[in-house]
Amino acid sequence: MGFSKLKIPKVCEQCQKPFEAKTITTRFCSHFCADKNRKEQKKRELELQKKEKVLEKYADKIATLQHRELISVSEAVVLFGISKSSIHRLIKRNIIRSVNLGERLTRINKTELEKLLSPIIINENDKQEKELPKKYKKEDCYTLSQVSEKFAANPSTVNSIIERFNIPKEKIGKFVYVPKVEIDKIFIRQ
Ligand SMILES: [Zn+2]
Repeated sequence: MGFSKLKIPKVCEQCQKPFEAKTITTRFCSHFCADKNRKEQKKRELELQKKEKVLEKYADKIATLQHRELISVSEAVVLFGISKSSIHRLIKRNIIRSVNLGERLTRINKTELEKLLSPIIINENDKQEKELPKKYKKEDCYTLSQVSEKFAANPSTVNSIIERFNIPKEKIGKFVYVPKVEIDKIFIRQ
């Protein structure tokens, strides 16, 4: 009485040829295939490590660049209300410097752009600004922070209410003024 030798039909994971395995854990038809597979596996692992290292390095680079205030072209489009092609033109003419991290990864210096574009920055709040009618004097108005303080509303709420109710406003110096009557009507009613 002895063990009958197992013969398990299998397909070699390396050469894809059918063979008879002696154990259920056998994966390859021969030492040659087992060896070859081990080497390829090792190669794949190394490649993966290499790739991970590159990614890591890249992430660091991005973090550093953000720290240095470099921004992407699309961020500049939003921040400065300038078209993509205008930005590329500025880069091409060497008016602003750019760093190219790869396809679609051009980074430009925000400070440089600020110096250049400060006169034409588009402020979302200014764009639809409805001027104060002449009848309102500065003393008839609140500044936005006064509104926010008086009615215990956060500035973004104040802003959206002003937008929603189409309240006239005027920017004088650093402050935006809104008529007290208009604001009181809305906030006291609420
Ligand atoms: Zn094989």
